[in-house]
Amino acid sequence: MTRSNRPISASAGLDRAFVVRWIEAAASSIHEQRDHLTQLDAAIGDADHGINLDRGFEAGLARVRDSDALPPGRLLQLVGETLILSVGGAAGPLYGSCLREVGRSLGEDEAFDAEALLVALRAGLQEIVRLGAAAEGDKTIVDAYAPALSAMERALRAGRGAAAFTNAREAAEAGMRATIPLVAHRGRASYLGPRSAGHQDPGATSTALLFGALEAAVRPAAERSA
Ligand code: ADP
Ligand code: MG
Repeated sequence: MTRSNRPISASAGLDRAFVVRWIEAAASSIHEQRDHLTQLDAAIGDADHGINLDRGFEAGLARVRDSDALPPGRLLQLVGETLILSVGGAAGPLYGSCLREVGRSLGEDEAFDAEALLVALRAGLQEIVRLGAAAEGDKTIVDAYAPALSAMERALRAGRGAAAFTNAREAAEAGMRATIPLVAHRGRASYLGPRSAGHQDPGATSTALLFGALEAAVRPAAERSA
């Protein structure tokens, strides 16, 4: 069995270092994709999505680097609160509340397994839906997030270990692409009505980046340095 196929759900293999890698990878891919996210938002919103998230994740990462004593769940709560405070627009508070809820669900434990992370990510999605009332198909974050969790759950049930994170990222990307023909029913893009069709949703796109960062964070150290 290769290192990358080693089941990760069998034991509590995810820890503070994993959460730090997740936030670092998220901050760096959002920074790289900042202009792309902003261009997508220019087409059906107000051209601030990349700028908003880049500022928020940079601030969140700075807090993470200042807080080396906190357990992983508390770190995510801190990142969430930082996003809520530092990012305007719809997506900052939605992602911030989501990450705060993911962190609360993980609690005070020093380590957790992929099943606990799935439960926590589900709590985060529920918070986004509670606050934003979007359903799948409304052309939002939910269109990438919900299928990612379904794919992750299926893969964990099948005992696929770390591949669950790859499946989640792939499903988030498929959900992101599937927003292109949709008419928006939530957020600013909904003001355009049918004219919102034909454009990829910026929030679904940033959600796919966050699942890509999760996949990168879970890879064993040996594979990352290879
Ligand atoms: P704003 O629209 O306030 O400028 P952003 O540009 O940062 O905020 O984020 C826009 C993204 O937020 C959209 O592409 C969409 O995916 C997401 N979004 C907007 N409203 C909702 C909602 N009610 N539920 C879930 N996601 C939403
Ligand atoms: Mg915007």
